[in-house]
Amino acid sequence: MTISRVVAIDGPAGSGKSTIAKILADRLKWSFLDTGAMYRAVTALALREGIDPLDTAAVAVLAAKSQIETIPSVLINGVDVTVEIRQPEVNHAVSIIAANPQVRAAMVERQREWSQRQPAGTVVEGRDIGTVVFPDAVLKVYLTASPEERARRRGDESAASIQRRDDIDSSRDHSPLRADESAVLIDTTNKEIETVIEEIVACLNLR
Ligand code: C5P
Repeated sequence: MTISRVVAIDGPAGSGKSTIAKILADRLKWSFLDTGAMYRAVTALALREGIDPLDTAAVAVLAAKSQIETIPSVLINGVDVTVEIRQPEVNHAVSIIAANPQVRAAMVERQREWSQRQPAGTVVEGRDIGTVVFPDAVLKVYLTASPEERARRRGDESAASIQRRDDIDSSRDHSPLRADESAVLIDTTNKEIETVIEEIVACLNLR
């Protein structure tokens, strides 16, 4: 079995996780996983099938039997939902679906399996990567940014919608959004992307 090295990148919406994680993975020649896209894909499928996001049992069944790919396009059961997962309906329902412990268990299992299959290390971004999915990650990073900056970056989603997701994500019972004790905290407000990457690479070189 390959033991792959993981850099875990967590933080709220618009903190810069995806941008930073992608560039970092590229630089390290490691694989990249956007776990938010997985929760979004399950949400898009539930909405397509007319399942109420609050129907925890029905959503759990859907998540357990779904096949998800995130690269190069986001596919669920072979259906391309790359564009759909960024729509307001999905923004609205995703945090409800992600609070479902059975959905989380199914996604976490896939994330771990995926990581094991990668030839080199992996850069994984989400909300619970350092705390729950990969507690033994070689490096855990927790990104933040001011609410104004986060809303600006997520231009297609209202500040109220972002705030609502963050509130649900941080207060849920299972795997809430929080920084692990051992995470390196980086505030990305007014910071160049390259500066953040350099800080992370410097931390990684010290491991
Ligand atoms: O990262 P992104 O904003 O696309 O994530 C969408 C939603 O997916 C989050 O608001 C959260 O509810 C959920 N999520 C999660 N755990 C993760 C990644 C995303 O609960 N590891």
